[in-house]
Amino acid sequence: MTDLDLLLNRASDPTEFERWLDLARSTGWCERPVRLAGTTHQIDPGTGEILYSYTTAAEPDGHLLKACGTRRATVCEPCSATYRADAWHLIAAGLRGGKGVPEDTATHPTLFVTLTAPSFGPVHSQREESGSGQMCRPRRTPPCWHGRPAHCRQTHQPDDALLGEPLCHDCFDYTRAVLWNAHATELWRRTTIGIPRELAKAMGVGSSRFEDHARVSYAKVVEYQDRGLVHLHVVIRLDGPSGHRLQQTGVGLHPQVLAGARRHRRELPSVQSHAQQGSTQSTRELQPQPVRATRRHPHPQRAFAAAADRPADAVDGFKRLGRKA
Ligand SMILES: [Zn+2]
Ligand SMILES: [Zn+2]
Ligand SMILES: [Zn+2]
Repeated sequence: MTDLDLLLNRASDPTEFERWLDLARSTGWCERPVRLAGTTHQIDPGTGEILYSYTTAAEPDGHLLKACGTRRATVCEPCSATYRADAWHLIAAGLRGGKGVPEDTATHPTLFVTLTAPSFGPVHSQREESGSGQMCRPRRTPPCWHGRPAHCRQTHQPDDALLGEPLCHDCFDYTRAVLWNAHATELWRRTTIGIPRELAKAMGVGSSRFEDHARVSYAKVVEYQDRGLVHLHVVIRLDGPSGHRLQQTGVGLHPQVLAGARRHRRELPSVQSHAQQGSTQSTRELQPQPVRATRRHPHPQRAFAAAADRPADAVDGFKRLGRKA
C-alpha cells in the first residue's frame, strides 16, 4: 500500500481518523513525528500474569506517533516552539530566582554579552534610529575595486531578500566567514574556560580552586544573522560557591574580566593558517556589557528574552561554566 492509500483509508474511516487526530495532537502537531511500531506487555513479576498489553498494530497506519523534540525551528517549528517556551522559563528563573534557583539571584552580578563575528565585508543591512528605518549605507564612498558601488541608499524592510547579501560578492571574504561559523563552538568553549581563569586571577586564587570560591553560570541563545554568521547572546551570572550571592567583595563580573578571556582567540591556529590574509580575530567583537538599560536596549533582560523567543539555532537554560577550569 502506498502512503497515499494509507492516508485515504485513514481519512475515510471516522474512528481511525479521530484516533490519528488524537495522536497528532498529543505530539503538539510535530511536523516530523517519530513513528514507533511494536508491542509492550506489563507482567506481574510474581505470577507471570500479563496485566496489560499494547500493540501499535491497532493504531492508525500501525504506528504510535512521538514528537521529534528538536530545538531547531528549521527542522520542526512546533517542537522548537515548545522547547523555546521551556527554555524561556529556565532563563527567567536564572535571572530572577525561583524554581529551585535561590531567591536572591536577581542581585547577583550579571552580564549580558553579545558575541558577534567581525566584518568580512560590507553587507546590506537594516538600520534603525529612534524607531524609524534608516538607509542601508548612505555615505557616498568610492566604488570597490571591482567597480561596484560601496553605498546603498535603500531602506530595507525585514523581508527584503537583499538583507545580509554582500554589496560585492568578490570583496566579501567567504573563506573567513565559513571559518568563523566552523570555529564558533570552539571559540565559545575556550571562552568558557577563559572566564573562570580570569576570575580566579582577579580573586587571587589558583584556577583549580576557583569552584571553592565562586561559580559562574550562563544561558545562551545562538542564532544566525542575516549575513549567515553565527551570533551569540549570553547572560553570565557570578554566584558564591553555594549558589548564593558571592560574599567576597571587590570581585565582580567586570567587562575587563571577559576582555581577559578574549585572549584565547589567538589560540586558533587552524583559522590563522587557512585564512587568506591576517588572522581571524574571532572574538574581537566581543561586546561585554553589564545588564543595565541603554538607549538601544532599554530592557536588556527583555531583549535577551526576546532573543530566546525567536526561532534560534539553540537556546540553553542556565548551565555551570568551566567545571574543569
Ligand atoms: Zn517535531
Ligand atoms: Zn542595502
Ligand atoms: Zn568588490
